[in-house]
Amino acid sequence: MNSAMQNQSNPKPYKYPVEISNLVKAFGENVVLNDISLNVPSGEVLAIIGPSGSGKSTLLRCINHLEKPTGGTIKVCGEYIGYRRKGNVLRGIGGKDLARQRAHTGMVFQHFNLYAHKTALENIIESPIHVKGVDVETAKARARVLLGRVGLAERADAYPAQLSGGQQQRVAIARALATDPDVMLFDEPTSALDPELVGEVLTVMREIAESGMTMIVVTHEIQFAHDVCDRVVFMADGGLVEEGTPRDVLDNPQAERTRLFLGRFN
Ligand code: ADP
Ligand code: MG
Repeated sequence: MNSAMQNQSNPKPYKYPVEISNLVKAFGENVVLNDISLNVPSGEVLAIIGPSGSGKSTLLRCINHLEKPTGGTIKVCGEYIGYRRKGNVLRGIGGKDLARQRAHTGMVFQHFNLYAHKTALENIIESPIHVKGVDVETAKARARVLLGRVGLAERADAYPAQLSGGQQQRVAIARALATDPDVMLFDEPTSALDPELVGEVLTVMREIAESGMTMIVVTHEIQFAHDVCDRVVFMADGGLVEEGTPRDVLDNPQAERTRLFLGRFN
């Protein structure tokens, strides 16, 4: 059975698709993540908020092993991401093995990161074909479904430069969904957009959340975090300062740092 079929028959196989234990990440002397532990239950939509430079992007990038942790462990769908366990020893992996682990997550970046010389459809089919070994026609059919899901059924053959920022980001979301990930990671997906284009991207994200997807969303969209997310974590200086329901953290923050940060949005 291929993993797409497994996803359909058993959409929530892991109690905690993401398990982060005592994660430390340093760049030279600069300790950017300082002993972070965080479990994300299946189906949860988690917002991570916090000031610029607090380590939010680095945390997401560790979850798909775009950054290698300095210490601690991260399990994604039960596997130590970036490693294979042999007895009690973790050995680093790369290449296809790492790509296969990475396919558990779909990442959406602030700056879309689409291939400029590929059409929307070609951007979306890339990973299914090369990482998952899906045949071209199946990948194309699935890509068209995903383009429909993000409201771009008519734009399959458009190049990124022919699309608005909001449309490009919706293609990027479709691309991230194309490998049937168990977890979607969003790194400030609307921060680079003109204000009038933010809503269309947030609407797509809300629909994905409502489909039951496990999501970790780094965002400054406080209203979105409030309305759509199940839990909010406030990060500062590489640590988790406060977490709770959106009402707890956003309406009634306990920590002074959270209050100061949220004061900016009022
Ligand atoms: P945020 O996303 O919350 O704004 P980042 O995770 O991007 O924060 O950055 C946290 C800190 O890590 C910053 O001080 C940043 O300069 C540093 N940093 C991030 N990536 C690198 C890197 N590749 N090399 C060195 N320092 C980095
Ligand atoms: Mg960032």
